[in-house]
Amino acid sequence: MSPRRNRPKGARREQEPERALVPEIVTAAPPGWEARAIPATGAAKRYRCPGCDQEIRPGVAHVVAWKRGEEGERRHWHAPCWERERRRMPRA
Ligand SMILES: [Zn+2]
Repeated sequence: MSPRRNRPKGARREQEPERALVPEIVTAAPPGWEARAIPATGAAKRYRCPGCDQEIRPGVAHVVAWKRGEEGERRHWHAPCWERERRRMPRA
């Protein structure tokens, strides 16, 4: 008898369908905003960070954020720049 065969039904991690090559990691965002953490492996392009006006190079983990309903206006931020901006934004 192998205990591994009797997994509880709750253990469904391995069976989750693949959604995208890069998993979406929801990160903290002010009300009305959406933000995702982009891991280094998912960062393939150069972006300009609106927080410091410096380049985000390929292979650098960062954050993409947009106002809810304005997904076409996604901006890519350095993670620390986003943190700073996020804290500056109103909470309500
Ligand atoms: Zn920046």
